[in-house]
Amino acid sequence: MAEYDYDLFTIGIGSGGTRASRMSASYGARVAAAEERYYGGTCVNVGCVPKKLLVYASQFSEDFFNSKGFGWSVGDTQFDWAKLIANKNTEINRLNGIYERLLNNAGVKIFDGRARLVDPHTVAVNGEQFTSRYILVAVGGWPVIPDIPGKELAITSNEAFYLQSLPGRVIVVGGGYIAVEFAGIFNGLGASVTQLYRGPQFLRGFDDEVRGFLAEEMIKKGVDLRFNANIARIDKNEAGLRATLEDGSTLDADLIMYATGRAPLTQALGLEAAGVATDKKGAIIVDDYFKTNIDSVYAIGDVIDRVALTPVAIAEGMALSSNLFKGTNISMDYTNIPTAVFSQPNIGTCGLTEAQARECYGEIDIYRSSFTPMKHTLTGTTEKTLMKLIVDPASDRVVGFHMVGPDAGETTQGVGIAMKCGATKAQFDATVGIHPTAAEEFVTMREKVA
Ligand code: FAD
Ligand code: NDP
Repeated sequence: MAEYDYDLFTIGIGSGGTRASRMSASYGARVAAAEERYYGGTCVNVGCVPKKLLVYASQFSEDFFNSKGFGWSVGDTQFDWAKLIANKNTEINRLNGIYERLLNNAGVKIFDGRARLVDPHTVAVNGEQFTSRYILVAVGGWPVIPDIPGKELAITSNEAFYLQSLPGRVIVVGGGYIAVEFAGIFNGLGASVTQLYRGPQFLRGFDDEVRGFLAEEMIKKGVDLRFNANIARIDKNEAGLRATLEDGSTLDADLIMYATGRAPLTQALGLEAAGVATDKKGAIIVDDYFKTNIDSVYAIGDVIDRVALTPVAIAEGMALSSNLFKGTNISMDYTNIPTAVFSQPNIGTCGLTEAQARECYGEIDIYRSSFTPMKHTLTGTTEKTLMKLIVDPASDRVVGFHMVGPDAGETTQGVGIAMKCGATKAQFDATVGIHPTAAEEFVTMREKVA
């Protein structure tokens, strides 16, 4: 008889937990997984997928406007929020079913319920206890709202996906991925949007030029973008909500959405019972192979607070399952991870910012191009695109890639492959462009920025 009930027990069927469970089962492991909320986790239910659908929805207002320059006459347009949310929910339900089937078909035993660790080899779920050779914690994170008076009147991205109606006046607080994406969504759908960021420039960690460029484009599109601004308190009044800012000024709104970061979801998980160590933020501490300080307990994804992106959680899950059940020794390479912000316009980026590259290499070469996308030569829209390459002159390798413009994420994925292969500027230059595209600019930039 086997020593344990399972070889792997995964807590959390999100991006990372699903992949790790499926792959482990495919390698012959006996796998169980528990999920307390929704199959597919954050990305499928209240993250990447519904977000991108809302971004698509919000872009039609510009498309209707832009079509006029191409000879179209668009009649009265109307937007039905309830219909969008209902259609989005149908799609999410479909995806939930796919996730469940994928796990079932792989032979993973699913438990619907909240799980917690009892000891290094035991998980409790739905009043039962199961032993497992390995336990994988893949519970993700949860939005955090700062502790200000009236914080209960504000919502987070979790609730934004299920609003009953489109609010007329929205305040978005924060300057990260979620804040800029939702400011664009609400703005495109017709709400009057104010975005507040506490520092002098939002999107900390992105290339400085990209940050400034996107700010200008968002302001052009009508977002009231305010830096060095933060809410001190929120009150409810007859007309809606009133935010009192730290400088004493007030702003009235129908909805206040906080996007001020997410914290690892590690409370009441039994980590103490199993002796699993966490850091100050509550993130589970793991080594290069996702092992915690306890030999049988592993963790991946947002809960380890490294790079909070779905493809990263998936890659971590693949590496882990291969190491545990195929005898490999794979660690995750976090360099040159391409990423996109689905702001309007999009940001796409891979590798180092200009400031990071200067720190790393000293001398660097910069190639930059800023132009009006061809589509807008007929629309009258003043949106511009920015493209920027950063090169280490000693090796000629492209070490940074940045774009602000339509579908930047699509372009970035391809360049990400080139950078993973260590492509040089000479190789970019030797690549034949695709004409007419915006992306061809990356293989035709010859003049270094002085
Ligand atoms: P999750 O996907 O969060 O899964 C964790 C699962 O564990 C959840 O289903 C949860 O219910 C479950 N769980 C938690 N505790 C327990 C318990 N005790 N017992 C049982 N189950 C439990 N990333 C991108 O790459 N691209 C994007 O465009 C993008 N957009 C995003 C937009 C938003 C609004 C948000 C919030 C995130 C976005 N992300 C995006 C980030 C991405 O969603 C996360 O990085 C990814 O989901 C992390 O996967 P995970 O497996 O670590 O955790
Ligand atoms: P981020 O950490 O990206 O941004 C949080 C923002 O809130 C920052 O601007 C931060 O400012 C600000 N902030 C933090 N605390 C406070 C406070 N007390 N008062 C005011 N402002 C505050 O978190 P998000 O919630 O936007 O997203 C979480 C993660 O999810 C992202 O980092 C990303 O990894 C992932 N994600 C990915 C997406 C994609 O791939 N397209 C889309 C959405 C999310 P400061 O910079 O000054 O600290």
